Amino acid sequence: GAGLAATDGDIQGAIELESQRQEQQIELIASENIVSKAVMEAQGTSLTNKYAEGYPGRRYYGGCEYVDIVEQLAIDRAKALFGAEFVNVQPHSGAQANGAVFQALLQPGDTILGMSLDAGGHLTHGARPAQSGKWFNAIQYGVKQGDCLVDFEQVEALAREHKPAMIIAGGSAIPRELDFARFRAIADEVGAYLMVDMAHIAGLVATGHHQNPIPHAHIVTTTTHKTLRGPRGGLILTNNQDIAKKINSAVFPGLQGGPLMHVIAGKAVALGEALEPEFKTYIGQVLENAKAMAQTLKSRGCDIVTEGTDTHLMLVDLRPKGLKGNRAEESLERAGITCNKNGIPFDTEKPMVTSGIRLGTPAGTTRGFSREDFIQIGHWIGDVLDGLALNPDDNSDVEQKVLAQVQGLCGKYPLYR
Ligand code: PLP
Repeated sequence: GAGLAATDGDIQGAIELESQRQEQQIELIASENIVSKAVMEAQGTSLTNKYAEGYPGRRYYGGCEYVDIVEQLAIDRAKALFGAEFVNVQPHSGAQANGAVFQALLQPGDTILGMSLDAGGHLTHGARPAQSGKWFNAIQYGVKQGDCLVDFEQVEALAREHKPAMIIAGGSAIPRELDFARFRAIADEVGAYLMVDMAHIAGLVATGHHQNPIPHAHIVTTTTHKTLRGPRGGLILTNNQDIAKKINSAVFPGLQGGPLMHVIAGKAVALGEALEPEFKTYIGQVLENAKAMAQTLKSRGCDIVTEGTDTHLMLVDLRPKGLKGNRAEESLERAGITCNKNGIPFDTEKPMVTSGIRLGTPAGTTRGFSREDFIQIGHWIGDVLDGLALNPDDNSDVEQKVLAQVQGLCGKYPLYR
């Protein structure tokens, strides 16, 4: 039959515009990346037609012999990459992966202890508006006032007081390496499961640039689309055989129906790429670029939460410039630089306003931006922020000037040519 352009110009047109947007702007959203052509290709295949409820070799539908190959490869590659004995590759997303773990190991009403959203945690770790916050007695820990690192004394005190069934480590805006052994010691003391959500740092863990949570946690979850540079989706990993059985039943039939086999194919391809030596070089560059951009922003008068970064991301505190996160995000977007407003620890601004922005280097590094490029990008951000501080109502002069340079840089590093 005819392709998309001929049958549905409206959708084709919007996809075309989105592709151009990605091509022409600098992507600094820390949770995003740019997948390879191979990953993209795997997702747009006949596998999207297939029902495969169950697991390889044990399906509820016929005709699964070829998707079994795909899923088994995804599982084997994930095991090899992370050194895990068990992996479930079916969660449709990171939130689904976390939901499946809760379904496997907890009862409604149980107490969980996770990092609060404003300290850098994720909604699924017990935030009020999320299912995890509604169906569980969710207690939240944060970071220390002084250095903005995880407040382990608070974690310990809350664990002793509330005796949670599960402690959750990890989050969405954590610029520094986490000490998983310390979390495990606290979990063991109070008889809790330790779940590590390594969604943001999975790529760093895969290449040995971050401590691996697998030996420390009872259970590990991740997304596949952030630093790991795969399709949108989730994984669950563990070395505990009893937990593994419960996880498989919790994902299917507990929480999900048929797995997205085209996405699992994309996961397998991305995991294969992450096993190659080039991926280690890539993550090393991501980290070097993040350090360089953080340093540049500091030199331009921004505060960087925790004074820098060990990871792919940084939190920029805009208060020294008298700016709000939402206004900065909008002005940067007009200048061709995409990021997100983000609360900083102990932020007094509302979540839709905030005092900060979160910046990450995974996507830009994938398209080829070097350390020098990221220093330049840091200066462009500095220019936009200084312009906005000077002219809060109309920063268009600076925005236009930066936009022209951004497009020049992006032109040098095409995405899918
Ligand atoms: N866990 C963490 C730490 C995250 O940062 C995210 C995504 O933002 C998720 C889970 C949820 O992943 P998804 O958006 O795929 O549901």
